[in-house]
Amino acid sequence: MMITRDHLVRHPDRCTHQAVCIPVCPTGAWLSTPPYKFDESRCVETCRLCLDACPTQSIYAVFRKGSKLIGPQAK
Ligand code: SF4
Repeated sequence: MMITRDHLVRHPDRCTHQAVCIPVCPTGAWLSTPPYKFDESRCVETCRLCLDACPTQSIYAVFRKGSKLIGPQAK
């Protein structure tokens, strides 16, 4: 069964509001300064520029395998 990226999440406790994700996004999916609204429809599934750019790793992807959502493992 194929695994696809379903959506992105910003971890509210990790985000330091440096807004690095906004200028790196080629499609303008991160819409504003705090609370950093996100337009899911603009996000390109194969892109991960904002995930790589975030200095606190506060953005992560949730994947889908069939009907099951797969998020990062809790540490
Ligand atoms: S993954 Fe790429 S297209 Fe999607 S929000 Fe991040 S920078 Fe924008």
